Amino acid sequence: MTSRTAIVTGAARGIGAATARRLAADGHAVAVIDLNEADAQDTVKAVEAAGGTALAIGADVSDEAAVASAVERVAAELGPPAILVNNAGILRDNLLFKMTAGDWDAVMSVHLRGAFLMSRAVQPHMVEAEWGRIVNLSSTSALGNRGQANYAAAKAGMQGLTKTLAIELGRYGVTANAVAPGFIQTEMTRATAERIGVPFEDFLAHAAKETPVGRVGQPEDVAAAVAYFCSEDAGFVSGQVLYVAGGPKA
Ligand code: NAP
Repeated sequence: MTSRTAIVTGAARGIGAATARRLAADGHAVAVIDLNEADAQDTVKAVEAAGGTALAIGADVSDEAAVASAVERVAAELGPPAILVNNAGILRDNLLFKMTAGDWDAVMSVHLRGAFLMSRAVQPHMVEAEWGRIVNLSSTSALGNRGQANYAAAKAGMQGLTKTLAIELGRYGVTANAVAPGFIQTEMTRATAERIGVPFEDFLAHAAKETPVGRVGQPEDVAAAVAYFCSEDAGFVSGQVLYVAGGPKA
């Protein structure tokens, strides 16, 4: 496998951390971007302990200047980025009548503006190399989910962004695909359980019962799907959305 430079956003923990570890295991040098550089160091240490190469960078993906300097640093220290995984995400769940404009804007800003800014900053490197892979994290919530008007709209937006990137960048050897996870056991789902006042173990058991394969997803399940889209073999697969949800629907 050709070794490339990959960027994974929101990679201090959860799905992003598992994806960074997986891409490093696949032979790539990985830039671990998260809000806080110190948090990103944990993932870097895990990659290095497994014999891989990684670099921690603190950056808010919704901040245009921070994104530009993060990508410049990746190019200077690890080499031109050829793989981008837009994974950084937040929740600000609430029923519509209680959702504030701030909750709406925050979610749009991290997921959509963040993926847009990162993709725009990275694409000149991919176009120059005539090779690139962009993978965006969508969600089964893109199909609609109670209490998530903001998140569902952002995750459906990620799919539209993905398909447009695929159309615009295909001629330069760049593919863009989305992975849409179902219930994955991370701090994000733990926070949801806390918010609705259900013990996390009960929340997990309920989700497992509702899932055809009879278990909840783990970050590594999502990382494996992302790794496929990033592979050399996936060069003719673009603009797709792969639901990684233990069954056919949310
Ligand atoms: P997580 O455990 O909450 O991790 C998200 C990471 O993103 C955190 O380290 C967080 O940093 C970071 N982040 C947040 N805002 C950021 C920003 N503006 N710039 C840079 N980094 C930022 O979430 P997860 O469960 O692994 O989810 C990862 C992705 O998968 C998200 O896009 C999520 O929407 C999606 N997804 C998750 C599930 C699920 O069931 N878990 C299902 C479908 C889709 P801080 O810790 O500093 O906030």
